[in-house]
Amino acid sequence: MAHEAYVQLVCPECQKQWESTPSELPSHAENFSCPNCHATRRMAEFMRTDRDLENLKRLQ
Ligand SMILES: [Zn+2]
Repeated sequence: MAHEAYVQLVCPECQKQWESTPSELPSHAENFSCPNCHATRRMAEFMRTDRDLENLKRLQ
């Protein structure tokens, strides 16, 4: 069984940092709401680094 990678997220509004598996997240172009402050942005804006964004796209 393959180890599922995690992507690191950070909220652009409240700066909350957390990680999640790509299968639990919407596509990078879809809206996502911060679980802490409920700010709604595109999923791509919550990715902590470009590498996290690449992993999200690759693993979904
Ligand atoms: Zn937030």
